[in-house]
Amino acid sequence: MDTVDSSRSQEDSLGYVHIQDVPALNQEHCKMLDPQRVERIINEFVCGGPERMQLVSDFDYTITKQRTDDGLPVLSSFGIFNECKSLPPVFKTETDKLFHKYRPIEIDPHMPKAEKIQYMIEWWTKSGELTSGFPFDQSEIDQMASKFKHALRDRTHELFETLLRLQIPVLVFSAGLGNSVVSVLRQANIMYPNVKVISNFLQYRDGLLAGFQEPMIHTFNKNETVLSGSEYYDLVHTRDHIIVMGDSLGDADMAAGVPASSHIMKIGFLFDHVEANMDKYMNTFDIVLVDDQTMDVPRALLALIEQRHQLRHPHLANGSSAPAKAAL
Ligand SMILES: [Mg+2]
Repeated sequence: MDTVDSSRSQEDSLGYVHIQDVPALNQEHCKMLDPQRVERIINEFVCGGPERMQLVSDFDYTITKQRTDDGLPVLSSFGIFNECKSLPPVFKTETDKLFHKYRPIEIDPHMPKAEKIQYMIEWWTKSGELTSGFPFDQSEIDQMASKFKHALRDRTHELFETLLRLQIPVLVFSAGLGNSVVSVLRQANIMYPNVKVISNFLQYRDGLLAGFQEPMIHTFNKNETVLSGSEYYDLVHTRDHIIVMGDSLGDADMAAGVPASSHIMKIGFLFDHVEANMDKYMNTFDIVLVDDQTMDVPRALLALIEQRHQLRHPHLANGSSAPAKAAL
């Protein structure tokens, strides 16, 4: 029996991937509306190999945890900035006012998206105006961000190491504050050369803050269409196998703008109001992970891709440095 089983599993590892053979996808909290579709995409990914892959991820509560083991709240990238000591008191009160006005609009289930976009542009514009006219040092963000370098999902480091080893481009897409995002990733030692952050970055004029650099990235233009014309756009458009990860429904659209023939696997991390949100998440994401504070599912997908890649290229079995060593 043993020999039959092992020869069968060996055959499977060379052939078609069945979802039931991937433990991470069989966990109780891992939900799929259409498992056959997920299985089909996984097999496309495995056949296409790492050279066709890219990963697009949200930052706040997707790379960072939604819930920490010690129960301490995780600040968002804008939250990190808002806690910095040298901000004028009026900044905080006015920022709070904007939040209370525009946040309900952002999450309003009834307002059409086109209408929301106008409000979001207004919100980000006013927020940029508030973030102007006073001196500010990046070191303040770094200090605050250092508290959250341990608030990344479990095994985020392993995920990013695999992505680097397989030379898969990672786009971290955030409608938050890029200065905080980069600072957290740097201090967590995962800001590798294959990682690109597209977000809102602080801008200075005459030594004073002057809002955010263009283009403005808000909740509803957070997709690859805003990359149009950039060097990164060309790079990612040759990679039509895409893993998208996010914790908000809008994150599922982050790969909008890529060729229609692309294969996209959308992974949604659901934590708040699980029951009320479940249907929408199930209809929006291919895989919904309920209160999963790890990177185990994306890692499992990459492991399948890497296994097959190594079978095809045995000289790479010891890591991507092998050919370089051989060349020496
Ligand atoms: Mg988020």
